[in-house]
Amino acid sequence: MSTQAGSVREYFSALFDAITSTARAMYVTFKYVWAVKPVSIEYPEVREVLPDRARMRLFNDVLNCISCTQCAMACPVDCIYIASEKMPEGAEIKKTSNGQAIRLKLTQFTIDTALCCYCGLCTTVCPTECLTHSHDYEFSQYTVDHMKYDYLAPDVIAWRDRIVKS
Ligand code: SF4
Ligand code: SF4
Repeated sequence: MSTQAGSVREYFSALFDAITSTARAMYVTFKYVWAVKPVSIEYPEVREVLPDRARMRLFNDVLNCISCTQCAMACPVDCIYIASEKMPEGAEIKKTSNGQAIRLKLTQFTIDTALCCYCGLCTTVCPTECLTHSHDYEFSQYTVDHMKYDYLAPDVIAWRDRIVKS
């Protein structure tokens, strides 16, 4: 009789252990499902909002560039390549959006992004504020050579238009 009572006790003790350990495990599971904020996002459907001063891919609004080369001179890694020529005789002298005369015709504005260290010095010295860091971080390329961006090229102009609109 006492052996049977012991077996029943063992049975209920094991049952109790099973229920409490399952409840403990489910508590941990549901804590992560409902209470803990997820640390991952469903990129690319969801994108992080970057801080206002985040420094991503450089953007040059070339229509406001006066070819002064100050950005290239400030660059610590010499990754900005600029070329310009005199405006043709009698050509209308246009102005930038902050009122500076554009006396030179910009013929090349290239940045080798593979060398750029995103220090921001070039944007700081730009007198017309046409060179800025965008928030675009999606510009991976298959080769290092393709990291050189010619800001007068049609594909980069298309990219620029996307950045300006967004
Ligand atoms: S962010 Fe710095 S390293 Fe990059 S182009 Fe500008 S000055 Fe050069
Ligand atoms: S500092 Fe500004 S205006 Fe001067 S060349 Fe560079 S981008 Fe153009």
